[in-house]
Formats: sequence, structure tokens, C-alpha cells
Amino acid sequence: MIDNKAKIVPMADLHAQYLSVKSEIDAAISKVIETSAFIRGPDVEAFETAFAAEIGTAHCISCANGTDAIYMAMVGLGVKPGDEVIVPAMSWISTSETVTQAGATVVFCDIDPISYTLDPAHLSDLITERTVGIIPVHLYGHPADMPAIMQVAARRGLWVIEDCAQAHLAEIGGRKVGTFGAAATFSFYPGKNLGAMGDAGAVVSNDAGLARRIAMFARHGGLRKGDHEIEGINSRMDGLQAAILNVKLPHLSPWTARRQALAAAYNAGLSGCDTLTIPRVSAGVSAVWHLYVLRSTARTKLEAHLKSHGIGSARNYPRALPFLPCYARLQHRPEDFPIASNLAEEGLSIPIFAEMTDQQLQRVVDVILGFDPSEDG
Ligand SMILES: *Cc1c(COP(=O)(O)O)cnc(C)c1O
Repeated sequence: MIDNKAKIVPMADLHAQYLSVKSEIDAAISKVIETSAFIRGPDVEAFETAFAAEIGTAHCISCANGTDAIYMAMVGLGVKPGDEVIVPAMSWISTSETVTQAGATVVFCDIDPISYTLDPAHLSDLITERTVGIIPVHLYGHPADMPAIMQVAARRGLWVIEDCAQAHLAEIGGRKVGTFGAAATFSFYPGKNLGAMGDAGAVVSNDAGLARRIAMFARHGGLRKGDHEIEGINSRMDGLQAAILNVKLPHLSPWTARRQALAAAYNAGLSGCDTLTIPRVSAGVSAVWHLYVLRSTARTKLEAHLKSHGIGSARNYPRALPFLPCYARLQHRPEDFPIASNLAEEGLSIPIFAEMTDQQLQRVVDVILGFDPSEDG
């Protein structure tokens, strides 16, 4: 029984973040309501400009969510039936379902055992004459190996879309993720490192023509009312979400630094724990710790142990993408993707969020250090 509320540590605490910026958020929301700027409008335009500047790209096209962002980037790049697109075997389903949605065929690639991101060493085996592009995912906030991926892509004439949904402000050699590929996509789902209070997303790019095609497609095929140069979809960011994101964006850098400090404290506190594998960071990159994912061969018992002590945990993700029921037709076997399969089997995310206190972190560390996998759970 948990009777001490201070001992409860959730996976995330969106309300704590709201309270930390409450007066600014409330004022921003009121202003949108007062001006009825519900769809697009000045806050949306201001956010697009500010976010492009923050990432370091020339263009930002806001949209309804991070899944649409990936789909629209592929449409903008001219993906067509028969094309093949390579995605990592471990990600959230948005990365692969949008390939099918765009009319192409999804090809899965195993992940690297340190970064848990697309392993470029497998790319040459997967590329065929039908391959048109690669969608690396900066999973859990750890950058994929963009220099190696871009090198293969350039040699084989492929485009690259970076899925940055979990990696706002992550860097490789001082350069932000989202600036390497032809386009990059972001999600502002409430639980993401930069989160709205509803669904929201964006595509960023340095390619003016591509940015224009994507913006047009997102807005019924035209940038001016009444103009429909092509048939598009309706995927717009609404004014309330943009106003909220404009309040939060200046806090993203300190919030990210806090996640990094918490991850460092976890690493220090858990490094001696021989029943666990703690996450590692590749040389020369800055990870932003959307999730802190341990591996344990006794995961089910560890989950129960954490739960009995009031500590949240999650499986991100319980199955590698090729083994989801929707891909049963591909008939993949675990040995096709050994690293992704192992991560799906052993991975366990423990609480990490910018508002997490030192006491909460210490509590999680103490509870994990008190875990004995040989005890009956
Ligand atoms: C969250 C997420 C998305 C999709 O974002 P939504 O805004 O929820 O549509 C895409 N890819 C990855 C890796 C994600 O984590």
C-alpha cells in the first residue's frame, strides 16, 4: 500500500508542466478565444517562424500531428506505388504506417545496439532498384547516425526524412537533428519533449520547393483561399495549440537540460546495477532523453516491483514493428531483427520529465536498487 503521495512517481506529469507556465498559457489561450483565431492565424505563423529558427531550417510547415507530417513529407517528395521506403524495425507505428499510406512499400531495417536507431550497416543489403528513401528515427531522443545514413543516401540517390518526434533539440556534432535530411518531421503530442494541449505537428526543410508542395498539400492543395492547384488534405495546426507552443518553446532548452541532468543522475545511480543494462549514448552526440529505457531480462518482475512501490514504467514498444499484426503478411522472424526484437522483449522506460524532482529521481533509483530478480514476484 502506498500511503505517501511523495513516493508516487508517474511516467510524466503534464499538470506540473502546466502549473510551471500557467499564467502565460492561460493568457495565450484567452487571446486566441478573444480574437477567434482558431485555425492558422498569427500564432501559427509566429510558431512556424520561431520553430524553424530554433531548429535551424529555412522552412517550417505546421500541421495537425506528427503522423501527418511524415505522410505529407513523402507526398511532397513524390512517393508513388511500387516505391520502397526503409524504416527502422523499432519505432512508433507512425513511421511505417505512413509509408503504406503514401502508397509505397515498407522495408524494415534492424537497429544499432547502442543508439537503438536505424543501423546504417544494414542499408546496402536492403536497397533495391525500387528504393526511394530512408526514414531514420531519433528514437527515445537519441540521434540516429545521420552522417553515415546521409552518405549511403547520397551514394544511392535516395531521399531522407528524419522522424524527430522524440528528439527536439538533439544534436550530432553540434548540429541539430532535423537539418540533415531533405525534410524532418516533429510531433507536439502532449507527452513529447515539446508538447501542445492536443495534437499538433510540423515538417521542417531547407528546400523551398518541397516546403511549398507540402504546405499546399496540407491546406487542400492551395496556399490562398479558393486556389486548389492540386487535391490535398486538411492538416492544419489550430490557433490554440500554436499559442500554447509559442509559450512553451522558449522553455524547451532548459527543459531539455533538465532531462539530460536527470539521465546523468540515473546513469550514475544505476551504473553498478548488474541486473540491468542502462542506456548508452554514441560518441559526439547530444541525446534529449524523451524516454530513459533500461533493459532487463527480468522485465515483468521489475515492472511489478516498480508498480508495487508507486513508480510508473512503460514498454516502448512492446513489439518491434515487423511483428505487429498489421505486418503479419511480411512473415518476418525475430532473427531477422535481433536487436529490435531483444529491445521489445527487455526494454523498460522509467520516469523522466523536466519537472521531475531530485527526490523523485532518487526514489526511483532506490527502488530499482532494491530489486532482486531472484525473489518471487
Ligand atoms: C509520437 C510519434 C510520431 C507521431 O506523432 P503524432 O503527433 O502522435 O501523430 C511519429 N513518430 C514517432 C517516433 C513518435 O514517437
